Amino acid sequence: MKKLENTFRKLKTPFYWYDMELLTQTLDIVKEESGKHGYHIHYAVKANANKPILNKMIQYGLGADCVSGNEVLRSLEVGFSPKDIVFAGVGKTDEEINIGLENDIFAFNVESIQEMEVINELAERKNIKARIALRLNPNVEAFTHKYITTGLNENKFGINIENLDAVFSILIKLTNIELTGIHFHIGSQITDMNVYKNLCIRVNKIQELFTEKNIKLQHINLGGGLGINYNIPCEDLIPDFKTYFKIFADNLKLKPNQQVHFELGRSIVAQCGNLITKVIYLKKGTQKEFVIVDAGLTELIRPALYEAKHQIKNLSSELKEQTYDVVGPICESADVFRKDMQLPKTKRGDLLAIKSVGAYGQVMTSQYNLRNIAKAYYSDEF
Ligand SMILES: *Cc1c(COP(=O)(O)O)cnc(C)c1O
Repeated sequence: MKKLENTFRKLKTPFYWYDMELLTQTLDIVKEESGKHGYHIHYAVKANANKPILNKMIQYGLGADCVSGNEVLRSLEVGFSPKDIVFAGVGKTDEEINIGLENDIFAFNVESIQEMEVINELAERKNIKARIALRLNPNVEAFTHKYITTGLNENKFGINIENLDAVFSILIKLTNIELTGIHFHIGSQITDMNVYKNLCIRVNKIQELFTEKNIKLQHINLGGGLGINYNIPCEDLIPDFKTYFKIFADNLKLKPNQQVHFELGRSIVAQCGNLITKVIYLKKGTQKEFVIVDAGLTELIRPALYEAKHQIKNLSSELKEQTYDVVGPICESADVFRKDMQLPKTKRGDLLAIKSVGAYGQVMTSQYNLRNIAKAYYSDEF
């Protein structure tokens, strides 16, 4: 990355820089490892919805996993096939559901009984049948940050298993929906692979509840959540997709002809993104020394929102390391990228790269403090 400093000097900071070669290598592995088991992969658009990134997913034959009507529209616009689009979300509005219905998407991942009824009603008005999968809450602990765990009973996502009987009795009355599958997504940045084994065990049990009712499920969707190495990204640029998919292959009990789907976001795009920022000032506190940079939580909110720690590299200095707090210019005390971080001696004008920001980085941009919107650049354009 240091080699790119001269290129970066010509661009207005802060900006996002995407390493498209790494994205390609990652997708090669995803294709190879998921292909061994015949799995279908949907890319979670909310992680990064930039068009060049989405185009790459299409090039590799991935489907799209959307959580808003606009994500469905964006996916269609860039060329995902409707038959490869799934649509989740606890609060789909009528307008958003209609977008899915009009485009005949693969499945709505339904998160409540009432939503199921509304989809049925809207489909009836159009005289069509909507395909749905039930997003079920398997109550599996994901051991991740409290803001990104989604599979526990007290979470707002999904339908609790205790409510399945109610679902079954209502479902037979709803003639404009077809139940084609079940869906799970238990959280994000999951690094303990045992969590996925536990998920499989739960899913096998839950499948039996459907078999007892003589309900055939065409597909099982296991969601996403595979974590990445934020601490030392260069040691793990590509997550261990081989082990990940194998856990499902070894532990899931499938019925004949049942398809298996995944929705991967972070694990595909996080490592290819860098936020490049310039040092504006150095400032000494009583105990600390601050590096004040021109990027802030408006460009990358993950440290403030999830207590996320991103690796930071100084691209302009190879001097002896010192301890710094790296902070942004926004008028919020939470606008801190890293506390007590070792960086080579840093000066005004140095360029820093904040690593592993390809997922849930640029998409959460805000204009708080009336900030300019940072641009994105892609390595294959240079
Ligand atoms: C966010 C999300 C994903 C992707 O999660 P990652 O941790 O980025 O892999 C998958 N499915 C659903 C329903 C989601 O909301």
